[in-house]
Amino acid sequence: MPFDNLNTMEDTFRHKGLRKRMVEAIRDKGISDEAVLEALNTVPRHLFLEKAFEDKAYEDQAMPIDEGQTISQPYTVAYQTALLKVQKRTKVLEIGTGSGYQAAILGAMGARVYTIERHELLHLKAKKIIDQLGMLNVRCYFGDGTKGLGEFAPFDRILITCAATDVPSLLLKQLAIGGLMVLPLGDLNVQTMTRITRKSETDYSHEKFEEFRFVPLLGGKKEIN
Ligand code: SAH
Repeated sequence: MPFDNLNTMEDTFRHKGLRKRMVEAIRDKGISDEAVLEALNTVPRHLFLEKAFEDKAYEDQAMPIDEGQTISQPYTVAYQTALLKVQKRTKVLEIGTGSGYQAAILGAMGARVYTIERHELLHLKAKKIIDQLGMLNVRCYFGDGTKGLGEFAPFDRILITCAATDVPSLLLKQLAIGGLMVLPLGDLNVQTMTRITRKSETDYSHEKFEEFRFVPLLGGKKEIN
């Protein structure tokens, strides 16, 4: 069974203590958005990892998940979330559900989240945890995120959590006017965090931030075989 080694839903005082320390470490690294820090303090990251990695869940590190993918470093999650400027009810599309942790952070902030993953196994695992957490405002989809979710467009915010060599043109079209897209843009070795603002039907502006390293954005989808 693919789900046998999933963590139990326990969130102990020890987990909560470790989480608080992690949040303070992220604050010290320069993240000052209190709503983002509060969400990091709320979401039990250890539930999104395999049991074997539980002890490392509250270190500020990326960790392996299935299918050769990674759960982003908490600092990176905080960084992208702060750039995205979400509020309660903001409609967000995330490309690259992975573990589901980033989607849960956005969910904890009260956003209406649509998240897509191209690996069916990761999609199912993330969906299961998000459902168990009772996050009715986070919806998980299995598919190729470069195509977006046209039936639910436009989105106030679009967040790509894998490395893009180009901005997917279909996603630009699904961004609301006045909306923001945050993505790591570059080659496979290093990407520059980029924020795109849709200014009008045809005008988009770009801002550049720090450099990061993500797993690649790939086309197509992979079913469990
Ligand atoms: N946000 C995730 C990060 C996961 S890593 C988390 O919090 O854990 C990036 C994920 O993007 C991987 O799971 C990868 O399979 C997925 N991905 C890559 N290309 C994709 C695409 N075209 N559509 C959907 N997901 C994609």
